[in-house]
Amino acid sequence: MMYPDLDPVDWEVFGREAHAMLDRMLAHQRSLREQPVWQPIPDALRQGFREPSPLLGHSLEALAHRFFAEVVPYSVGNAHPGFMGWVHGAGTPVGMMADLLASGLNANLGGRDHVPVEVEKQIVLWAREWFGFPETATGVFTTGTSLATLMAVWVARAARWGESVRMQGWQQQRPRVYASTGVHGSLVKALDLAGMGRSCLVTVATDAAHRMDLTALEEAIEADRRAGYEPFMVVGSAGTVDTGAIDDLAGLAACCAAQRLWFHVDGALGALACWSPILAPLMRGIERADSLAFDFHKWGQVPYDAGFLLVREGEMQRQAFSLPAEYLARATRGTAAGTDWPCDLGPDLSRGFRALKTWMTLQAYGTRRLGETMEQACHLARQLGDSIDQQDVLERMAPVSLNIVCFRYRCAGDIESDLLNERIAVVLQESGLAVVSTTRVKGRRVLRAAVVNHRTQASDLKVLLDGVLWLGQRFSPQEPMA
Ligand SMILES: *Cc1c(COP(=O)(O)O)cnc(C)c1O
Repeated sequence: MMYPDLDPVDWEVFGREAHAMLDRMLAHQRSLREQPVWQPIPDALRQGFREPSPLLGHSLEALAHRFFAEVVPYSVGNAHPGFMGWVHGAGTPVGMMADLLASGLNANLGGRDHVPVEVEKQIVLWAREWFGFPETATGVFTTGTSLATLMAVWVARAARWGESVRMQGWQQQRPRVYASTGVHGSLVKALDLAGMGRSCLVTVATDAAHRMDLTALEEAIEADRRAGYEPFMVVGSAGTVDTGAIDDLAGLAACCAAQRLWFHVDGALGALACWSPILAPLMRGIERADSLAFDFHKWGQVPYDAGFLLVREGEMQRQAFSLPAEYLARATRGTAAGTDWPCDLGPDLSRGFRALKTWMTLQAYGTRRLGETMEQACHLARQLGDSIDQQDVLERMAPVSLNIVCFRYRCAGDIESDLLNERIAVVLQESGLAVVSTTRVKGRRVLRAAVVNHRTQASDLKVLLDGVLWLGQRFSPQEPMA
């Protein structure tokens, strides 16, 4: 007996249903502004996703209905112009179409000789240009900067200790890694996952602009060397997650060259600002990094997920990840031809076609237009900062270096202030009008607005500001009567 394959029984019918789904998604994207940014998930709906695994299939039409009724209205909202929480990219309709095509093709980008791998290599060539890396540089797509950072640690480790640490694992080494106190948690996680222990991270104090203090860094390195530690890596931030501060990357590069340390840059948030001739000078020194991790899925507006690791000396990336395997033998002709398979440059074997949505986004908009959306985001962030400075009841908590604004509704008493601002954030989110997140700056819980979305306009910031002022007044603890 033969079972039918999984293709449609009637392609005509399937085609109509598929087109209808696409139309509904486009209509959703067009009308984002009329929808709440985010809304709480009803209990019954959540319970619907605790059902038994389906034994028999449903029609595509029924699934589309469920998707638009149950998934779309209750997603996190980062495509919406009022979303300023955390650091999320918005995506674009172009990116969506590219993702659809990539899934249709279902290419595996672990290696072999096919154009999808060439598309990924095209992005490597472009990335070299954007960041002023040499021809020796290699790179691969990753799920995000978190994985790219872990990979950079592995490359730096192999570059420093060579084959012995790859074969034996950590032995007697006492590695030390340096980053500012504002560094993203993904570095801490990477050091943990790399088996070095989180305690090998030395956090270095920052200056008034939240940038790493270079003198403090050099002192820490010297002190560690005297104590018998082995400094091997410095991580600079091209935009810290809390405040968007950009470390003095040129200064860090010089320090790393003098101290013979691996210089890694976390560019998740800001590196792609090099697409803007106005913003690019902020990143000066990035071209001297040994490795650079960044995300197309944040400010680059490519749909999730699309992170990237670029390594200056490609040979080091190869040495950190390549392993011979008979079933992956390379041929000079045929499907198994081609050198530099992406699987030699990272931990994954099977890999999706993230390159296509990135390539199409770049081809459709061009770096100039994408760079302009970043300039606009920085402009809006500065405007928001100015509006905050004009309100007595608000306090801006950090300089606006890029596209992030940290502020709080003033309130006497530290605990009261933290609770008040926490409450403002949550109630604002639940209102569906705007989403901001919170973080801690100068010891205080603060509201944090990150303008990453290309759809965000001045009117969205006004909604946010009016909302904060109204809620702040409503929730402020009553002043005791005089
Ligand atoms: C988002 C972010 C990361 C982590 O990147 P993912 O793509 O979420 O893994 C690292 N560093 C900074 C500064 C970030 O903003």
